[in-house]
Amino acid sequence: MKNNKKSRQSQYNTMFFTLKLLALFFCAAPIFQYFFKETSRNTLSNVNIMVLIISLLIFSFITFMWLIMDRNRNKFSPIIFCEIFVFLIFCVTSIMFSGMHESYYKFLFVFLVISYTIEMGIKTGVIIATIASAFLLTLDIIMYKESGVNPYFQTDIALCSMFVVIAWILGSYVRIANEHIVQLTDFANLDGLTDLYNHRYFQDCLKQKCEESLSKLKPLSLLIVDIDYFKVYNDIFGHQKGDVVLKQLADILRDNSRVTDIVCRYGGEEFVIILWNTSKEEALEIGENVRKDVELFYFDGQEMLSNNSLTVSVGVAEFYGEKDSADNLINRADSALYRAKFFRRNRVEQYVSVFDSTDLDTSLTSLKSLINVIHSRDSYTYNHVERVVLYCQMYADYYKIPENDRRRLIYGAYLHDLGKINITKETLVSSKKLTDEQWAEMKRHPVDSAAMIRRIEGLEDIVFIVLHHHEKYDGSGYPAGLKGDKIDPLARVLTVADSYDAMTSSRPYQKMKTPEEAFDEITRCKGTHFDPEIAEKFITAISAAI
Ligand code: GH3
Ligand code: MG
Ligand code: MG
Repeated sequence: MKNNKKSRQSQYNTMFFTLKLLALFFCAAPIFQYFFKETSRNTLSNVNIMVLIISLLIFSFITFMWLIMDRNRNKFSPIIFCEIFVFLIFCVTSIMFSGMHESYYKFLFVFLVISYTIEMGIKTGVIIATIASAFLLTLDIIMYKESGVNPYFQTDIALCSMFVVIAWILGSYVRIANEHIVQLTDFANLDGLTDLYNHRYFQDCLKQKCEESLSKLKPLSLLIVDIDYFKVYNDIFGHQKGDVVLKQLADILRDNSRVTDIVCRYGGEEFVIILWNTSKEEALEIGENVRKDVELFYFDGQEMLSNNSLTVSVGVAEFYGEKDSADNLINRADSALYRAKFFRRNRVEQYVSVFDSTDLDTSLTSLKSLINVIHSRDSYTYNHVERVVLYCQMYADYYKIPENDRRRLIYGAYLHDLGKINITKETLVSSKKLTDEQWAEMKRHPVDSAAMIRRIEGLEDIVFIVLHHHEKYDGSGYPAGLKGDKIDPLARVLTVADSYDAMTSSRPYQKMKTPEEAFDEITRCKGTHFDPEIAEKFITAISAAI
């Protein structure tokens, strides 16, 4: 979008540049004619040479100034004022040197009128036309000494009217065309239902703001707002009433935003606000204001909903700077939103990562880049990993497990799917049932993950947690088919957390379960898939947290 605008502007600039250069040539012609009229072919006087050199210098200087001058010239600036003034002087000089009121070069003003009307608008065009007309007509009156009708004045009245008409018609046309461009741009950038900016505009704008944040060293934050249980509202009241809610929510978001904020509809019932020059703490405050305002607002029929109110969950993330990107920022805000949803919704949550909260060994920092590779290939796996880490943290916090075990469990959770880097993208993101070969490929990942970690100093004690996370309590798992106590105890916790996330997140090939349904499923699989004691403890810990 920005590039299109830039290239359009540069095309305009080239056009005006050519037009003005042409005008300059025409202006120079009568001046040269005047100074060279006595000169024969082979003799150039000193005056001639001087005139040539001075003209060449003036010409080069003006061309150079045009080339280096500010490219964004649609605002009237002192530079433009000087440019028009110099141009007028040139035209006047040309006319003076080519016979004054009798000159054939009075048309030169047309170049000025046309180019500045298109460039600066109708007002500038009409002012230039008026100045030119006043000059020509005054010249005719002063210079015509004979009695009777002044023929120059007569013909110049027609010429001057032409200047004004050109400025007026061309100016009006340019204004209408510009208004139309603005209208079309609005159509392309605005969401039809809420009149907020749309997804496409958001993506472009966020990238631009990230660059600006880097260059101007200003903080940048992002809010993602998602309506809670909106499907239920639509199911009860229908989509049309749902649309009214979306519009009302858009108004609330607008009311809570500042002039520098950019509010967009991300898609469906999700909204985003780009918060320029805003730290995470300020963003959390704005998010909390939005959440409260939505909770207090009366939406038609809300008493039929479970909490007698329609609410939103909000995810907040901050731009990290040079090593960060717009995509990562969106993903982090999305993870934060997931946390807010996880904690029973109607909440504002910020992004927290194990990488931010734990003291990192250098070895793990290097693995972070590997995890980022997985992320760029398949954001589902990445977000899944983040969630599994969250469940393991909850488990560890609830039971206050020893610090070293906590570290092992959380690192294990972070690294358990590292081996998926070897799986082809088709298998990884396949929405169809996997073939036997693809399953074999998929089942290799615990061994591959373990092999990668084994080589890293300081992570030896995590190897078995990762290697065993697909073993089942009854011995029917993989890779080794280990049974009961033979499986690393923390791997047994990771198995439950991993499965719980698979059940409660939406995947192409299965329906998403509610936490309660997932707990029932875990209970059903106690003793077969899961360690019965750990399964119970996991349900208790997660139920307490949500
Ligand atoms: P959650 O709290 O987890 O966000 O639950 P949810 O029901 O809001 O989330 P889910 O993503 O399952 O459903 C989103 C719903 O939003 C589905 C659809 O009915 C509704 N929706 C999406 N776009 C529109 C829209 O343009 N108009 C209306 N009326 N409803 C929409
Ligand atoms: Mg949603
Ligand atoms: Mg929702």
